[in-house]
Amino acid sequence: MSAQHTDQSTSPVAPRRITKVLVANRGEIALRVMRTCRALGLSTVAVYSDADAHLPHVARADEAIRIGPAPAADSYLKVEAILEAARRTGADAIHPGYGFLSENADFAEQVEASGLTFIGPRPASMRAMGNKAAARQLMAARGVPVVPGYDGTDQTDARFAAEAARVGYPVLVKAAAGGGGKGMAIVAAADALPAALAQARRLARAAFGDDRLLLEKYLLGPRHVEVQILGDGEGRVLHIFERECSIQRRFQKIIEETPSPALDGDQRAALCAAGVAAGEALAYRGAGTVEFILDAEGAFYFLEVNTRLQVEHPVTELVTGLDLVAWQIRVARGEPLPTQAAIQTHGHALECRLYAEDPARDFLPSTGHLALLELPEGPHVRVDAGVAEGSEVSVYYDPLLAKVAVWGADRGEAIDRMVGALRRTRVGGVTTNRALLQAVLAHPAFAQGATTTGFLGQHFPAWAHPDETEAELRRAAVVVVHRALLRRQAGHLPTLPGGFRNNLWRGQVESVSSDTNTFEIEYFDRVDHHEVRCSGRTLRVRGVTTETRFRAEVEGHQQSYRVVVDPNPHAESAFAWVADADGVTRFRRRPRFPVADATEEAGGCVAPMPGRVVQVPVVVDQHVTQGQVLVVLEAMKMEQALLAPHEGRVTSVHCAAGELVQAGAVLVVIAPASSEA
Ligand code: ADP
Repeated sequence: MSAQHTDQSTSPVAPRRITKVLVANRGEIALRVMRTCRALGLSTVAVYSDADAHLPHVARADEAIRIGPAPAADSYLKVEAILEAARRTGADAIHPGYGFLSENADFAEQVEASGLTFIGPRPASMRAMGNKAAARQLMAARGVPVVPGYDGTDQTDARFAAEAARVGYPVLVKAAAGGGGKGMAIVAAADALPAALAQARRLARAAFGDDRLLLEKYLLGPRHVEVQILGDGEGRVLHIFERECSIQRRFQKIIEETPSPALDGDQRAALCAAGVAAGEALAYRGAGTVEFILDAEGAFYFLEVNTRLQVEHPVTELVTGLDLVAWQIRVARGEPLPTQAAIQTHGHALECRLYAEDPARDFLPSTGHLALLELPEGPHVRVDAGVAEGSEVSVYYDPLLAKVAVWGADRGEAIDRMVGALRRTRVGGVTTNRALLQAVLAHPAFAQGATTTGFLGQHFPAWAHPDETEAELRRAAVVVVHRALLRRQAGHLPTLPGGFRNNLWRGQVESVSSDTNTFEIEYFDRVDHHEVRCSGRTLRVRGVTTETRFRAEVEGHQQSYRVVVDPNPHAESAFAWVADADGVTRFRRRPRFPVADATEEAGGCVAPMPGRVVQVPVVVDQHVTQGQVLVVLEAMKMEQALLAPHEGRVTSVHCAAGELVQAGAVLVVIAPASSEA
């Protein structure tokens, strides 16, 4: 940092008033920004598309303005609609979050031209970094190392071929205007280059409206490390240490951490100094990230500057105690930066991105209704989620459900804490990458810190969801018992199957199906437990409570389950979701033997527990009304009256006063009133 900028408090920046912040974004980052605004006493304005009207970021903002239909181009990317929302609500500042308009220099300019404060870098910095080729050239001129490659204006195939031969294969072709990994292609050898260039140009033109490309040596087994910077816009730039984000799929991060397990003190100092130099080259204002790639020999090369708050900023906050959004706002107001020496890190932080996507199907995004969502909490666990139970995950936006971040005194403690946090994360309704995240954390190479961008390809070349048949059997037993307990609480007696032969309750028969298995279940209500027979197994299940969490014991093993029943009672076949620590299963329930004729259906009473029949005040053919006493049973030193579940005719009586009966014994059968004729 240059000497003339060390005494920041005398810098003549005109203070700007910020009292009400409109967040031009959605989901978790909108909530994240609003949390800090509230802490600073600022009012908050959310914007939303039709698809997001019921999301938490809308409900938790002081005010919210609908800005258009679901597609981002008609809502979150619509500059005029966002400026109009700010005018209507009297917001004096706009925070763009990440993605959408956050790195759009024209938008930032229009915000400022409207007399509002843009909480972010200057438009010129965005323009300078918006093009990867220009960014490389600027950094190289400043002495920041860039990956060997070619970023010139001659875009002919012949030139690319010559440059690729110079740097050596494999090479990586990138869209100069690129981002999000789009238009990137690895080229192994010269003969594959022309086709790769043609395809990359096509993709780049479609995604960015600009088909210019650049070429870099494709580094093997590198790490992604990046430096968080904070600048005052006057030339003073601080670093807030690094993050490592090597665990990626499709060139996109899924696990991030700080500090990087790959750097020693000297390397860290050199990397952070390079980050500061990059920021100084731009006289950077606000929070930004300088991305580098670190090769196996420990040399690092500049990749790009992200001129915004990053998705993974929480790990930096967890180790430094800084609130980066608060610093973005302070800088936007013209307040001085802290000193570099005041920024210290403590311990280790990890973040996992929980995505609605299927790692077994090439990370295809998954959409649906979040019927069940449990997110972890606890000391040193931070969850940034944009959805809640009941939210819809739509096709329109990024499938990020939540960021789970943890802090630990050291890396090992952080990993353990993350393992626990993911175990307490349960999602029903969409497919998620949770099991893959868990597998990565459990991998010895991850524990050793041997994290490279090729980690998933190397260790999980063909991911398949773990076989859950055993867990699903257990959950199927739980869903059946849970339902029986709820019915019992509601005062229903079990319905008797038609045409039974003996007077021992032969069990309720049900078929429940998960997405992969069907379980034919026979279920018996015993004195102090339930017996579930399935696939030649007999499970003894005891429901302990039926509160929000269903504490159940299966074969002597007690744990908490969460059971969510489809709220739509008219659904042809009802769904229920059962979650335990291993995962979540969605079950579809069908009666195993559909009743062919309503007259066969019969009700009556069974002994809920072993006991002695005291009295049978009804006889065969007698008409009974609903709630009439059918049998008085003495059990557990108490008399219990067993009542008719509905009006009807007594068709058979299977017990007499003084008799001892077993649990589940059918005592009286009645035919419904409607079938009496
Ligand atoms: P985008 O802006 O599309 O995200 P980046 O240039 O930031 O693209 O690169 C994204 C990821 O691609 C990096 O984190 C890294 O994993 C990989 N990558 C980029 N450049 C190289 C390279 N020269 N060699 C190897 N991997 C690279």
